[in-house]
Amino acid sequence: MAHIISDDCSSCGACVAVCPVECIAEGEGKYIIDADACIDCGACVGECPIGAISAG
Ligand code: SF4
Repeated sequence: MAHIISDDCSSCGACVAVCPVECIAEGEGKYIIDADACIDCGACVGECPIGAISAG
């Protein structure tokens, strides 16, 4: 189960740099986590200033 970025995402990009497998990319209106690549490490969760990332 991969982590998920909710629709609350404001596309600030704060989470991108901390992902060890570089599976977070900019989508349309929000950032998106590649579910097949995410290793569920949780590193991105604390980086989001609005708490939009959660375990799937
Ligand atoms: Fe990347 Fe870890 Fe967040 Fe998955 S949980 S998107 S591997 S930082």
